[in-house]
Amino acid sequence: MTMVWTEEMKKKMVETRRANKEKKKANGHAEYVSEVRRDAVMARWESVQQEQDNWLKPFYELPIDRAMRYLEDLRIIASKAGAIMNSRINEGKEVRCSGPHCAKNLTGLSPNGLPKWIKKMDFHDKDHPEIWHCLYFCSELCANGYTRLHMGALGGDGK
Ligand SMILES: [Zn+2]
Repeated sequence: MTMVWTEEMKKKMVETRRANKEKKKANGHAEYVSEVRRDAVMARWESVQQEQDNWLKPFYELPIDRAMRYLEDLRIIASKAGAIMNSRINEGKEVRCSGPHCAKNLTGLSPNGLPKWIKKMDFHDKDHPEIWHCLYFCSELCANGYTRLHMGALGGDGK
């Protein structure tokens, strides 16, 4: 099917664009800029998804040692991304003791500047190994209680 691009359609498109731009201006320049930036990020992400073959090509075509370096670069990016995602996921989250029947609030720091928890357990996410979930404990007693209760179930996703 051939689409016919008429003058009228063009006029309408230009009009819509202008209207959208005005709307965006009205909503504030900052919001508009962040939207543009987000669109750019999304476009790049979609290109990664759509062009997977291109991204994988170097693994077939480069000499082994260079391909290994390329793989290492991608790993570094993935691990940095994992660290960023971890801090975003855990940022501002309320920290509570995971000891059985404890749930003491451990958010924030003690007056001496140290965390309120004394022990932390990290669990890798089942679907995203670079993402981890953390459990916090107020005391050895609570940590031991948790371990005793969940022995054998450890290594899961920590939920
Ligand atoms: Zn506790």
